[in-house]
Amino acid sequence: MSMFFRPKRSVDSRGKSCVASHCPELPRYKKQLYLKFRTFMEAHGTPTLFGTFTCNLAKSFYSEVSRVYFGDDNQPLKDPVLIAIAFQRDFQDFFHFVKTTFANRHCGGLREYLYVVEFQSRGLPHVHYCLWTGHTIDQMIESETIVATLPQGHDDVLLPELGERLSTLVHRHQTHQCGAYCLKEERCRFGYPQRVHVAQTAFDPATNRFVYQRGEDDSRINPYNADMLRYAQCNLDLQYTCISGVTAMLEDECIL
Ligand SMILES: [Zn+2]
Repeated sequence: MSMFFRPKRSVDSRGKSCVASHCPELPRYKKQLYLKFRTFMEAHGTPTLFGTFTCNLAKSFYSEVSRVYFGDDNQPLKDPVLIAIAFQRDFQDFFHFVKTTFANRHCGGLREYLYVVEFQSRGLPHVHYCLWTGHTIDQMIESETIVATLPQGHDDVLLPELGERLSTLVHRHQTHQCGAYCLKEERCRFGYPQRVHVAQTAFDPATNRFVYQRGEDDSRINPYNADMLRYAQCNLDLQYTCISGVTAMLEDECIL
């Protein structure tokens, strides 16, 4: 649900009251999103990456906004419009990083992108996005653009600007803890805990999903890219995509 938009009723040519088609949550609005996505798919093929950017109120950015407007670091939710505008700024900053630094460093540049902002169940906002990258998925697997392992040893770098190690960020943001929202008949609908997979990340045609390289201690690690996680400081849920996964997402997020 959008906090920015208040639906306006008008009267059509037949004298019937109607709601503007750009009102989020309406079937007409979702159908438009679906058609836009299908048009992109026909023009550019299946996107190669799917990701999520979530609102993390623990970031210093939101504390600063709260301090400026309310004189208190801990009141970011006092004004929902303010938090929505702040999130918009936060996401624009993050997505500029994705389109430039991340795409050029890890993906061979960016060909196209689409994203949708959601406010689910009156909760905090998050964004789902799809990227069409210059590199193929096989190339990105080879260069380990996305990993699902807890960084250890030399990989567990100290992040000077945060004063923390990468493993701390992964524990905080990329560790899936099951709850009521994901447990269906006592099984996680996202498949956690994931099984050990010592071989390289690969597409599994039996399940139509990518199986990420994971060790014994990584069964609850959500796939991520270290540079992106360092910049975003929130849950990423970054994944390689396949046509069946995109179709399922469309049915789940956009339509019908
Ligand atoms: Zn779960």
